Formats: sequence, structure tokens, C-alpha cells
Amino acid sequence: MECQKEKNLESCPCTYPGCAKKGLCCECVKHHREKGALPACYFSPEAEKTYDRSIENFVRDWEKYSK
Ligand code: SF4
Repeated sequence: MECQKEKNLESCPCTYPGCAKKGLCCECVKHHREKGALPACYFSPEAEKTYDRSIENFVRDWEKYSK
């Protein structure tokens, strides 16, 4: 399977500047998983901009937008 980086970049919502993992979803997920966190695409646009990728922030964000 060929790397889908260019295609992934079309839908990547991450606004963190300068990250070399952008579009490389396998590396992105691994990086955040090892930190006990989640990638940008799990968050609302508002929460994503805080760069807080913690599971706690994900739950707060989910509770806010799921109601
Ligand atoms: S979510 Fe994290 S690892 Fe993934 S592109 Fe954004 S800053 Fe990089």
C-alpha cells in the first residue's frame, strides 16, 4: 500500500504549525497514543485550536457538542 499522505492532508484538521507528522496518520496516532492522548481529528474545531489533545479534553469536548 502506498502512503496516502497527500490525500490525508486534504482532510486533516490539525492546525498545529510545523508538525512533520501531518498527513501521516499512522505516525500521528502512534505519537498521541504513546502520550495517552488523541489526534487532532477527534476534536471539534474549537477544542482542536487549544492543542490540548488529552483524553480529558476530548471527553469535555464530546460532552459539550453531543448535547
Ligand atoms: S495531531 Fe499531533 S501529531 Fe497529528 S499532525 Fe497534529 S500535531 Fe502532528
